[in-house]
Amino acid sequence: MGEFELIRHYFAAAPCAQPGGAVALGIGDDCALLALGAGEHLAVSTDTLVEGVHFPVGCDPFLLGQRSLAVAASDLAAMGATPIGFTLALTLPQFAASWLQAFSAGLGQMAAGGPLRLVGGDTTRGPLSITLTVFGSTPAGAALTRGGARAGDLLCVGGPLGDAAGALPLVLGQRSAGAEVAEPLLARYWSPAPQFALGCALRGLASAALDISDGLLADCGHIALASGLALQVERARLPLSNALVAFLGLDAARDAALTGGDDYVLAFTLPPHHLSALQAAGWPITVVGCAVVGHGVSLIDERGQDITPPVRGYQHFRETP
Ligand code: ADP
Ligand code: MG
Repeated sequence: MGEFELIRHYFAAAPCAQPGGAVALGIGDDCALLALGAGEHLAVSTDTLVEGVHFPVGCDPFLLGQRSLAVAASDLAAMGATPIGFTLALTLPQFAASWLQAFSAGLGQMAAGGPLRLVGGDTTRGPLSITLTVFGSTPAGAALTRGGARAGDLLCVGGPLGDAAGALPLVLGQRSAGAEVAEPLLARYWSPAPQFALGCALRGLASAALDISDGLLADCGHIALASGLALQVERARLPLSNALVAFLGLDAARDAALTGGDDYVLAFTLPPHHLSALQAAGWPITVVGCAVVGHGVSLIDERGQDITPPVRGYQHFRETP
């Protein structure tokens, strides 16, 4: 099967590539065309996943397809953008029909029921790597950036933290656990659910936002820097799932929540007077700290002591001591 037949069969024919929504022209021409309403901004973000770096060598292609799209699309949620579509630049070591079929089905599973359409891409031969570019829209001026937090705002998260980091030894086959623990943790690693609806609900309310990909402390550092203030995280307030605490114990579960990655849960700052209405509307919001004058991110224990750990998350290219 040649490149063009491959694209047609596994991607252009996929249910998630069928026309609709804001996609005026999809796969097959030199560019896709996306329709934006008057006064809308296009939100764009790219993520690359490399085999052996971002996912284990030889991992299940269906799960990989799901996870790749979720990880990329989570950035749209973090901006408060309404999802439109995505492109897929796929580099494959060889043609493998069953791998492509399963990967494409995994992408489709994550896109199913939502507006995200596959609108184009590129297909090349080489070491396995996946680049997804996602597109969404926000009303001009309404996007949730990292830069608007104010001292006195609450620091909030949109769900339990640390599950995906806790799942990593299960993903890598280094540990095992009973189904009641393994299943929920593995689901959070392989199919995180981008918080699109929460992101849109926070437009005009949250003062700054991002999605947690590198651990709460590290990612809060981005808000603190961009907003020119300090964020304090209270360890006792971290939302932890029962499965994570059962698997790791409380201390390691907290560490996973603070410095593990791959949560794809929103973290945002919120003027305090908006909290009760959002919680009353049923949004899964937990207050984990607050913004104060200063700089950086600190972790506070139950007695108010500063217990900030030295290493805060994963960075490519960072020198190891
Ligand atoms: P060009 O040479 O103009 O860049 P290509 O020959 O690479 O176009 O691709 C042909 C069409 O197929 C384009 O519309 C492109 O966006 C789409 N395409 C290529 N690879 C993929 C893929 N992996 N998934 C989805 N669409 C793809
Ligand atoms: Mg091309």
